[in-house]
Amino acid sequence: MAFDQLSTKLQDVFKQLKGKGKLSDKDVKLALREVKLALLEADVNFKVVKQFIKTIEERAVGHEVMESLTPGQQVIKIVNEELINLMGSTQSKINFAPRGITVIMMVGLQGAGKTTTSAKLSSHIKSQGKRPLLVACDVYRPAAIDQLTKVGKQVNVPVFSMGSDKNPVDIAQAGVNYAKENNLDVVIIDTAGRLHIDEVLMDELKNIKALVKPQEILLVVDAMTGQDAVNVAESFDQTLGLDGVVMTKLDGDSRGGAALSVKAVTNKPIKFVGMGEKLNDLEPFHPERIASRILGMGDVLTLIEKAQQNIDEKKAKELEAKFRKAEFNFEDFLEQMQQIKNMGPISQLLGMIPGMNAAKLNEIQGQVDEKQMAHIEAIILSMTKAERLNPSLLNMSRKKRIAQGSGRDLQEVNRLIKQFEQMQGMMKQFSGAMKGKKGKFKFP
Ligand code: GDP
Repeated sequence: MAFDQLSTKLQDVFKQLKGKGKLSDKDVKLALREVKLALLEADVNFKVVKQFIKTIEERAVGHEVMESLTPGQQVIKIVNEELINLMGSTQSKINFAPRGITVIMMVGLQGAGKTTTSAKLSSHIKSQGKRPLLVACDVYRPAAIDQLTKVGKQVNVPVFSMGSDKNPVDIAQAGVNYAKENNLDVVIIDTAGRLHIDEVLMDELKNIKALVKPQEILLVVDAMTGQDAVNVAESFDQTLGLDGVVMTKLDGDSRGGAALSVKAVTNKPIKFVGMGEKLNDLEPFHPERIASRILGMGDVLTLIEKAQQNIDEKKAKELEAKFRKAEFNFEDFLEQMQQIKNMGPISQLLGMIPGMNAAKLNEIQGQVDEKQMAHIEAIILSMTKAERLNPSLLNMSRKKRIAQGSGRDLQEVNRLIKQFEQMQGMMKQFSGAMKGKKGKFKFP
């Protein structure tokens, strides 16, 4: 998971500091040495680390911290503030044109996730009430146009393409014209990538830039490539000029060195991060929330936003009523599971809960098995709709069929049904008790 390794190390260092009532300069210096090592191991750029530690040391070694009642907490507070500064202080948003069409050019090396991110971004922008268009300018990578068409369809955003034998510069311009004619207001251009930066590619991008004059040039980089991502960002910025960075695959990057270095090295902010392969796995980058996650202080705001985006409030109310009347069935259960799944992997969600330090997270992750959830889902999906709505239909031959259909064994199917029956029994008792109390219950 993102920043896992770094987070565990830093929290270990701070646990020792918090345990001490008073801190000497030596204590702080020793702790900062550990922080430095943790950052270097996380592949943060060494110049960035040096400056970061120096700043913290200047702030932390001195009487303000030492004389406070909770010096350990004070040091953590300073580290938190400096982590936020390192990543750009506040959230950096897309520059939308005040009037008319906004053009966003997506650039980056092949495989970084440009096409996927273009679709994710178009969907994000659409949810803000805008009317985006995706433009397919990657005419070199086989199947890039088909891929964009496919993901565009998935997020319900129109895709403009002219095949692969036209010049990308012309396609970009034609795409902008198409948007104008069709009352669309944001054009997202998926440009071509290469395996390495080369002059021909850069010239093409410069020509597109000169012609369509984008409000925003976003570089897509793969977090897993560590400092290479930072070098790529420096290079693209020097030749093309960037407005921001989208860092993909942060979900798989336990070190996080690129995410922590890119702003300090290039002075260009990260605007979004990719947190998975699904088309809703794009998060606006909030430096303060990320710092909080790294230091194990949770990220409740992102959690709430995810819930708001993925959980249908009307349905939740209906479900609550069903719960109360003990009418909850497997169909409801399935829907509930799918809504939670849309919010992202359970491990990612757990990491956003305050107080969930890395050690606790590891412990719980062992118990919340995503595979097991997939098995439960497979079992429920192998039931007929009638069976899901009325689990009492589930006799032995039906259970055997379900086991076969889901590829799970009969025991597992039985266990799930039994647990479900127990849950229903509890709901019945509970709603019975509530009814019985009605009218009799008085406040003292
Ligand atoms: P492009 O060559 O830059 O256009 O890259 P693609 O959009 O084709 O993405 C390359 C691969 O990276 C695909 O398999 C994507 O599903 C995957 N990918 C993109 N973004 C993310 C992300 O944020 N997390 C993960 N885990 N995979 C991603």
